[in-house]
Amino acid sequence: MPVEVIASVREMQLAADAARSRGLRIGLVPTMGFLHDGHLSLVRRAREESDLVVVSIFVNPKQFGPGEDYDRYPRSFDRDVGLVKQVGGDVVFAPSNGEMYPEGFDTSVEVGRLARGLCGASRPGHFRGVATVVTKLLCAAKPHLAFFGQKDAQQTIVIARLAADLNIDTRIVVCPTVREDDGLAMSSRNAYLSEKERQDAAVLYSSLSLAELMTGDGERDPAVISGAMQRLILSKPSARIDYVAIVDPRSLEPLVLLHDDCLILLAVWIGRTRLIDNVIINVRS
Ligand code: AMP
Repeated sequence: MPVEVIASVREMQLAADAARSRGLRIGLVPTMGFLHDGHLSLVRRAREESDLVVVSIFVNPKQFGPGEDYDRYPRSFDRDVGLVKQVGGDVVFAPSNGEMYPEGFDTSVEVGRLARGLCGASRPGHFRGVATVVTKLLCAAKPHLAFFGQKDAQQTIVIARLAADLNIDTRIVVCPTVREDDGLAMSSRNAYLSEKERQDAAVLYSSLSLAELMTGDGERDPAVISGAMQRLILSKPSARIDYVAIVDPRSLEPLVLLHDDCLILLAVWIGRTRLIDNVIINVRS
């Protein structure tokens, strides 16, 4: 079956209505394109769990701040459509900016406390842009299920909150982070890295692995663990730390002592490229 490319919101809604009236389960995978194996793992999961798999490709200007990389964000639309086809997607929903944000557009969706810290603190307005676009994509594709990557941990928590708070009838499914051989989380932004920076970037995952080792050895003090992580990261000349945080995975509140499930997140600049990653560690008391 060829992939159907839909550019209009109205057409997407009609396709969704038609699928729903036939009793089909719709699965949506929202992306900004330049697809890699991380994205494709979400599409494969959607294929397993839904009858109509919709992949949205939209580089959302509202989630980029001034001076961020909106203009140079990598794009490869035709290749993306081919990849979606290869892994069994049915529809690529690719609206233009004008289609998503027509003249007079004046609404935003803002999640509160969960969206304020961590990436929300470093990138003011970012999660407002994400929450707004995801709400619009859910209204366009009317999915039963929507698939997101653990790689963007705070984003998954913000989206699950907004779906619950706004009574959106879509199940939010979080899928594991897909990594390169050296542990670097796959990301469209990895394409910005020079060869040397690409090597240095492996330190994000090495530092998360170090945290896992330390907790395995019995360390329970988050300050000690994040201190060791920061020293390891800063051993790479191209690295600059935005944040390293050890938080409760539900509330995103910092932990004073590690117990049960801990979410360890970081955002690190490698040269001019800001990368994020995280792991959830279960600490047995
Ligand atoms: P993006 O195109 O970066 O907005 O990402 C679209 C979706 O793919 C988001 O739900 C991301 O969390 C997810 N994603 C991105 N990179 C990965 C990865 N390495 N592993 C799993 N999911 C990912």
